[in-house]
Amino acid sequence: MSVAPALTVALGDRFARELAEMAVPWQAAEVPAPRLLALDEELAADLGLDPAELRGPAGLAFLTGTGVPEGARPVAQAYAGHQFGYYNPRLGDGRALLLGELTDREGRLRDLHLKGSGATPFSRGADGLAAVGPMLREFVVSRALHAFGIPTTRALAVVATGRQVRRETMLPGAVLARVAASHLRVGSFQYARATDDRDLLRRLADEAIARHHPSAADAGHRYLALYEAVVAAQARLVAQWMLVGFVHGVMNTDNMTISGETIDLGPCAFMEGYDQDAWYSSVDEGGRYRYGNQPLAAEWDLARLAEALLPLLSDDQEQAIELAVGALRGFRPAYDAAWLGGWRAKLGLPEGLDDGVATPLVSDLLDLLQANKVDLTSFARRLSSAARGDAEPARGLVLDLAGIDAWLARWRATGPDADAMDRVNPVYVPRNHLVEEALAAATAGDLAPFERLVEVVGRPFEERPGLERYAEPGPAGRYVTYCGT
Ligand code: AMP
Ligand code: MG
Repeated sequence: MSVAPALTVALGDRFARELAEMAVPWQAAEVPAPRLLALDEELAADLGLDPAELRGPAGLAFLTGTGVPEGARPVAQAYAGHQFGYYNPRLGDGRALLLGELTDREGRLRDLHLKGSGATPFSRGADGLAAVGPMLREFVVSRALHAFGIPTTRALAVVATGRQVRRETMLPGAVLARVAASHLRVGSFQYARATDDRDLLRRLADEAIARHHPSAADAGHRYLALYEAVVAAQARLVAQWMLVGFVHGVMNTDNMTISGETIDLGPCAFMEGYDQDAWYSSVDEGGRYRYGNQPLAAEWDLARLAEALLPLLSDDQEQAIELAVGALRGFRPAYDAAWLGGWRAKLGLPEGLDDGVATPLVSDLLDLLQANKVDLTSFARRLSSAARGDAEPARGLVLDLAGIDAWLARWRATGPDADAMDRVNPVYVPRNHLVEEALAAATAGDLAPFERLVEVVGRPFEERPGLERYAEPGPAGRYVTYCGT
């Protein structure tokens, strides 16, 4: 048992109270030898937590759920979900706990959640644990996404447990403390819908409106407005992933938030050679969640959300379906607008440039990148040099010189703004080989490469001397991410 006195932190139990049917009060597993591996001090401060205190024994007990503040009521959350297209009525937090809600400095409610905190009633025979490597991966990748300005759940801390975890080999275990706008997922709605308890479904929807899409409360049809808002938020999110070459890897409905934040960074990767067909996860046989499929996968998941919401849309099933289909039709235009807007920014195109010029400019470039398997990150970044007059760094990445020269001439004629480009095209993304290298070193006890990588990707737009290695793609060859759990 932990003997450290608990921190005094005001953790709410709003989810546990309001949605008790979906919350199983539970306790984290003991942690034999807690040791802090990573802490986001800025995030801690935003949450009103004292980083120094978090580093102490009571802080580590707090971050692993073994020392719960007075009044807090940790719960395992129930949810269902489609995994790779197959429905599972009971997933839930099999190795996670919601510790409770905190109010951040801006007055926003934030979930504090643990991953790797031991088996729960949702574990389905698995151990409820997590290994150091995958938890640190979630830490560094979410840090990068946040630094890019992409909505994401955030990693507050990773604490090594001192317990070994059995995977293909024995690995050191860890607990991740995660912060999110909430952990309401498409799968949460699927779960509520499957209970046939319309009141529960309504309370869940009201909670989603209150926490994430408050303007829906004032709409003529609040639940339709909620659905439209989720469709729009996910369209924007996936467009932002696409713009930085992010491949999530497991876009199951239990891994899609209602808030529009990225969640559950398992076998994710950053694409290097541009390829619509790029996929990395060893468990994604057939590449269901490959790069170019992500918008379709999101749309598919959102259709599952619509099915779950039908009873709230109308008592008349035909009409409910009609409303849902109409709202889901909003996905593609919202995605296209976010995506084209993002590419306009990446290419530094002037405000007034006609879509009729911008659209083919972007699609012709992507055809070139695809045909020549050009590294998206370095190309986009080097393009600002071309806007300043030196095309060579970008041009040199493309084998088809005639093709790229013709494109560069068309693009330059629009008068691109190089400084604006540098504000949106990251120099540094978490390169897959560097992530692997950092996680392997950390697993073996050396945190230095991991800490360096976190520092580099945390300031992604600022090119710094000495960090050339972090700006380069990895050695050619197929990169595979294994399960990640
Ligand atoms: P994920 O693939 O991480 O999104 O998880 C899918 C489902 O499997 C969730 O219900 C998790 O809680 C559960 N799960 C994943 N890994 C474990 C584990 N080691 N022990 C228990 N449940 C797990
Ligand atoms: Mg998940």
